[in-house]
Amino acid sequence: MVIRDFDEFCRDITDIYESTLPNTEGQVASYIPQLARVNPDQFAVSLCTVDGQRLSLGDSKADFSVQSTCKPINYSLALQLHGEHVVHRHVGREPSGRGFNELTLNHDGRPHNPMINAGAIMCCSLLKREGEVNVADRFDLVMDTWRRLGGGTKVKFNNSVYLSERTTADRNFALGYFMREKQAFPASTDLLETLEFYFQCCSIEVHAEQMAAVAATLANGGICPISGERVFETKTVQHCLSLMYSCGMYDYSGEFAFTIGLPAKSGVAGALMIVVPNVMGICTWSPRLDKLGNSVRGIEFCRRLVATFNFHNYDTL
Ligand code: GLU
Repeated sequence: MVIRDFDEFCRDITDIYESTLPNTEGQVASYIPQLARVNPDQFAVSLCTVDGQRLSLGDSKADFSVQSTCKPINYSLALQLHGEHVVHRHVGREPSGRGFNELTLNHDGRPHNPMINAGAIMCCSLLKREGEVNVADRFDLVMDTWRRLGGGTKVKFNNSVYLSERTTADRNFALGYFMREKQAFPASTDLLETLEFYFQCCSIEVHAEQMAAVAATLANGGICPISGERVFETKTVQHCLSLMYSCGMYDYSGEFAFTIGLPAKSGVAGALMIVVPNVMGICTWSPRLDKLGNSVRGIEFCRRLVATFNFHNYDTL
């Protein structure tokens, strides 16, 4: 057992959950009505160890849109399809030091990394093989990957989130055209189709229990602890976690790596996907966000977590 006294561990996590719950700072995302209308008081924490022990607290069965937490999954899928060298011809692996949707590219006219919008749009353009035309099959591949990473339970798609995302996407369109001007996309990329595909990926819905299992699959090097199925190659997961560590938390990524020391990815719906390599995956979900776009309770939970346990990357020194 990777956590020897799981009952005691669960009691400690429950204490952390309860201490974090009274924090009602922050605001829900309001750029689309579907996110603005969410009950802001909800708070879920779910975890899954690499040997399949699980704990779920609070609203852990409430669905939310994955939003930016689709970025590491799509990046991993692009790596699986094309390998590191092809993927990184189109997208960098350097923190941008800029806002997640800022209109900026690196010196080569490429997105800085796959965890910001430009890079995520680029990864979406890479989720097909030469000559493949069927965008429906690409979406099925993404949905099926989420399902397998999460241990086999079906994931959902929120069409109203998708429609709203599409009508408020001027910045993402601008990023797309900027990259096309720089000839950053693979040959024969259909830009409109790629952008729509990105909005669809953001509109996939899971609950905290499912996302914890997804994070646990990453913690376990690509093998799902629930089903035992290998979903990603170990090398893919290593690359993905490296970029989550340096770029996963918007403009707080450096600070998060310093203070928390774990690979993680946040999304504007309030989710936080946290990976403790070789130990467990954790998902927190609470919709109120701080000014940088990270879930306020999610960040507080992580602070308390590493204050209680030696999960920080360098705690074992
Ligand atoms: N759909 C959002 C966008 O592309 C995702 C934002 C996020 O979660 O960071 O703008």
